[in-house]
Amino acid sequence: SELLKVNNLSVAIDDTEILKNIDFTIGKGETHVLMGPNGAGKSTLGFTLMGNPAYEIKSGDIELEGESIIEDGTDVRAKKGLFLSFQSPYEVAGISLESFLRNAIRQITGKPLKIMQFKKDLKEAMEILQMDESYLTRDLNVGFSGGEKKKSEILQMLMLRPKLAILDETDSGLDVDAVRTVSRGIEAYQKNRDGALLIITHSTRILEALKVDYTHILVKGKLVETGDAALVEEINNNGFARFEKLGE
Ligand code: ADP
Ligand code: MG
Ligand code: MG
Repeated sequence: SELLKVNNLSVAIDDTEILKNIDFTIGKGETHVLMGPNGAGKSTLGFTLMGNPAYEIKSGDIELEGESIIEDGTDVRAKKGLFLSFQSPYEVAGISLESFLRNAIRQITGKPLKIMQFKKDLKEAMEILQMDESYLTRDLNVGFSGGEKKKSEILQMLMLRPKLAILDETDSGLDVDAVRTVSRGIEAYQKNRDGALLIITHSTRILEALKVDYTHILVKGKLVETGDAALVEEINNNGFARFEKLGE
């Protein structure tokens, strides 16, 4: 059934319209891929869904499970089950990765943490992501390499169990092995949970092992095409040329 519904959404930054009349729907447990040339507005869509106040909604609505969330702040949206993995994850000095995860789970669920379950889930997720236990006591993302930051984001996704995770170029700047590991983490999320995914990506490598239900093409702020996994393959072979003029 319907999880996220984006209806006629137009978004501006500093009075410049970036997203134009966007419509799409994500069902529970579905994986959607969003592709498009640089500057098309993909990250803008991610930030807008998550409630970043720099992005002004000019028209339209965003509904989560039938309720509008556009008046909700980012923290409320996170509690309602949205998760955004940033293109450039923040470094947070003074908070270890483990205490960050504990706090985030407590805040999102509003309940005390079940420690034994937490430790079991954490161990399992870190094994999938081939992360050494020593990361848990290090400050969140501080001094982490690009690949380690991305793994830390996927770890957060696996532990926070959102209803919808938006991954913004989680694969950019990763070497082949790291892409495979991150992809395995996303695969675990697809298999073990009822969570949906919106994967924003330029590269098709990360998608190879994943189940993809729908692919959307964004050009110059407009959604110009929606298809199935075969569309990823077409982009892989032919690029965006066929779609560029549709954004005019
Ligand atoms: P993509 O993620 O598809 O590469 P973005 O969403 O980052 O695209 O950017 C879409 C457009 O919005 C680009 O033209 C970009 O220059 C512009 N833009 C993005 N962020 C800002 C900002 N903070 N201020 C002004 N313009 C911005
Ligand atoms: Mg970009
Ligand atoms: Mg981007």
